[in-house]
Amino acid sequence: MNFTLPPQYREAGVGELCDRIRAVRKATGKKLCILTHHYQRPEVVVFGDFVGDSFELARQAASQKGVEVTVFCGVHFMAEAADIVKTGRQRVFMPHPLAGCPMADMADMEDVNRAWKYLESLKLADRTVPVSYMNSTAALKAFTGARGGLICTSANAVKAFRYGFENKEKIFFFPDENLGANSGRKLGLRPDEIALWDFRLDRGGLTRAQIEKARLLLWKGHCHVHTNFKPGHIERIRAQYPDVKVIVHPECLPEVVDLADGDGSTRYIVDYCAKAPAGTTIAIGTEINLVKRMALAYPDKTVVPLSGEKTPICFNMYRINLNNLAYCLENYESMPPVTVEDSVRKDALTALEKMLTLD
Ligand code: SF4
Repeated sequence: MNFTLPPQYREAGVGELCDRIRAVRKATGKKLCILTHHYQRPEVVVFGDFVGDSFELARQAASQKGVEVTVFCGVHFMAEAADIVKTGRQRVFMPHPLAGCPMADMADMEDVNRAWKYLESLKLADRTVPVSYMNSTAALKAFTGARGGLICTSANAVKAFRYGFENKEKIFFFPDENLGANSGRKLGLRPDEIALWDFRLDRGGLTRAQIEKARLLLWKGHCHVHTNFKPGHIERIRAQYPDVKVIVHPECLPEVVDLADGDGSTRYIVDYCAKAPAGTTIAIGTEINLVKRMALAYPDKTVVPLSGEKTPICFNMYRINLNNLAYCLENYESMPPVTVEDSVRKDALTALEKMLTLD
């Protein structure tokens, strides 16, 4: 699938694009809701009715009375989540239809079904609860709901695991091995109780004994943005700023989380920056756009990217810009909305609603 903007949008200047976006905004009023994820470019965030993390945004749009069109400046699984929880006649559009999440795509349903069937053949599936990260496809969310499992965010993964272990002996967590490992470790699981299911290998690359022993099976998926942070970055930043507070996202490698002063969701990171006393130096290990926004929002604090100038960006989030936002707002009637089939929505919603009982 290709997506090429017509020249009048590709070639328009910033001023013209902003005017066009404002004009649509004014003309559509409350019928339109623009959602911008924390990792969006600053010039896009300016136009968001809400800025936040994926599920927070989806729920915001669903709770707004009179909204008919939601434009989600984020990646595909986020728009799907908005479509799953939407109310009434809302339709969800993405400014760039090819903005996906490589980590969510690492859990292909054929591979997931094969893994689960293997657990069934070992008579272990009944003793296992699937838990899926919000950063997953609607199909995986539905798979999870249909098997009595639940969804989690980076903010409530530990709670979700606790719930899982209260109900079943084992958890199979998809698709982020690092959030899974960090959450399992917070619950005191030993390394030999955690096993990594490599979907590229026959039977996950695990022996029957390893699978039987594991309390936590982790799908071998990762976020290329967050796994870029390494222990060396923390050593360097501490040498440069001896009083620095290092805060990272739990999609980072466990060895990075171990060395940090704190780890948590984007909400945690935003709150940490807001509450830190003036004069604090904070090095953040997450997507650069959020770090830059925190630095601008808190000029009385020193907020720096953990890996210095080499901080990786999420290229998919970065696909969204003023050009395709303006195009989407003016042309959504001729664009395909992001839709989740009713059969998938039903089971996905079951898994999401189970998550909401955690709070
Ligand atoms: S930052 Fe990572 S997890 Fe988030 S959308 Fe980008 S690739 Fe996916």
